[in-house]
Amino acid sequence: MRLRILGCSGGIGGANRTTCFLLGDNVLIDAGTGLGELSYDELLRIEHVFVTHAHLDHIACLPMLLDTVVGARTQPVVVHATAETLHILRTHIFNWQVWPDFSVIPGPDHAILKFETMPLGDTRQVGDAHITALPALHTIPAVGYLLAGPDGALAFSGDSADCPAFWHALNGVDKLKYVILETAFSNREHELARVSRHFAPGSMIASLGRYTGDAEILITHLKPQDADLTMQEIMRDGALYPFSRLQQGQVLEF
Ligand SMILES: [Zn+2]
Ligand SMILES: [Zn+2]
Repeated sequence: MRLRILGCSGGIGGANRTTCFLLGDNVLIDAGTGLGELSYDELLRIEHVFVTHAHLDHIACLPMLLDTVVGARTQPVVVHATAETLHILRTHIFNWQVWPDFSVIPGPDHAILKFETMPLGDTRQVGDAHITALPALHTIPAVGYLLAGPDGALAFSGDSADCPAFWHALNGVDKLKYVILETAFSNREHELARVSRHFAPGSMIASLGRYTGDAEILITHLKPQDADLTMQEIMRDGALYPFSRLQQGQVLEF
C-alpha cells in the first residue's frame, strides 16, 4: 500500500494544503486543498473518496473535482461517508446554491457523483485495500479510517478529540505501521482545542496512553502559525513515543 500525502496542514498560505491523502492512484481520503496538487490525468483516475467529516478543510476540493472530471469519466466518483456526513454534504454543498447537485449530472442514471453510505465500523474493499470507518469525536459527526493491505496497516484519526473507542479499535490491529494523529493547536490554545474538539499536545499525549501498540505516530493538522511550537511541545512532553511530523509530499508505504 502507498499513501501519498497531498495536504496535511490545518490551514492554507504558501505551501500549506489542507487534508487530502491519495491511496494508490484511485482512492482519496478526504479532499481538502491538497487535492489541487494532482495533475488533470491523476484527477481523472480518482474512483473513490472516503470522507472523514464535512468540515471545509476536508472537502473543499471535492465539488471542483467533480466539475473537473464530469464528461471525461464514464464511471462515477463514489463518495463514501456516514449517513450524517452525506446528509450535510447534500444539504449544504450539493444544493444547487453553493454548488450543483452532481449526483444527477449529467443525468440521474449516469451521474458523475455517487453517494455511498458507510456506517461506522463497516469495511469497504478497493483492490487490495480494506478501508474501515473508525470512531472519532468532533464537533460534527466524524470518523477516522483504518487502511489495511496484505502486509500492513495505517490508521488516520481524522479530526478528533480523545476517543477511547478509536484506540480500542486500533489495539487489536495486526501489523499497524503508522497512526496519523491530529494535533491542531499548541498547548496555549488548549481551551480552544477542547471546545472545537481537536487535540493540543497535552490532550493528544494523554489520549495516546490508551494505545498499547508500537506504530509510528505521525502528527497532522498543525495550524500554520503554531506548527513549530506545537511540534516542540510534542517532542518535549512525549519523548516516550515515536513521533514525527507528517510532511506534505511524503509517501508512506505499509
Ligand atoms: Zn473538523
Ligand atoms: Zn480539519
